Amino acid sequence: MRGNRHGGPGEGSLTGPHGVLRRISEGTLKLALRRRPRFQCPICDYRGPFKHYRDAHHWIRDTRCPRCASYERHRLQFLVMRELGQTHDFANMAMLHVAPEPVLKILFERQFAVYHSADLDRRGVDYRVDLRAMPFADASYDLVYASHVLEHVKQDERALAEIRRVLGPSGVALLPVPILSPHTIEYPGPNAHEFGHVRAPGLDYFERYRKVFGSVRVWSSRDFDPIHQLYTQEDRSRFPTRASPHRLPMLGECHPDYVPVCSGRPSIDIARAGERVG
Ligand SMILES: [Zn+2]
Repeated sequence: MRGNRHGGPGEGSLTGPHGVLRRISEGTLKLALRRRPRFQCPICDYRGPFKHYRDAHHWIRDTRCPRCASYERHRLQFLVMRELGQTHDFANMAMLHVAPEPVLKILFERQFAVYHSADLDRRGVDYRVDLRAMPFADASYDLVYASHVLEHVKQDERALAEIRRVLGPSGVALLPVPILSPHTIEYPGPNAHEFGHVRAPGLDYFERYRKVFGSVRVWSSRDFDPIHQLYTQEDRSRFPTRASPHRLPMLGECHPDYVPVCSGRPSIDIARAGERVG
């Protein structure tokens, strides 16, 4: 919800995606990086090398599109949304976009009949909300989009129940989190060195979604053309570190990203089953 890795002021552009200054800086970048691999951004159609990301605790290769500022997760999510658009009529749907990414917000605003943005504490959104207690009526939305949010939320089961509640019966929720661990590890508290994460999710994290939704389809980087560079290229064998003492090492330096698409109700409603047993 806040302080996500790539949610900083670099997203968006003073000169716009097709501005003259941006074109000049793209040309300079391509010259400087001419020996680096070339990719194609599915969002803005930029073709060429992507930028690295580096801060005190992270070093990720070939991640950022220099034109639209997308990272691999945005590109993967864009491709998944394009697939969903084949079977869903976005022009007749209401979307709630939590912690909106500027590069995707400008697309979704145009695609959906109703578009609302929300965040816990960011300005410039339609609603300031806590995902665990949203002020919306049941079945208010057809699609809820909350990327890299739940790893910041304690009591995430409350947030998941709320997301399901505000979705209509045929609603869809896209709830990607960074997969940072061989299995999910809960932290004793938010880690300021990890943008406030309260856990390191593993692939088993999506089992929590299956308790709330009838269907969870998990798309991955492997489902699309590698020309779009949809992998997180980061050495994760170095964990745990002093800044991330609870993270476990992961093998390799090229990690797929994932987009779980949740829909429907589980065949057995766990809460009601519990009521009956009780
Ligand atoms: Zn781009």
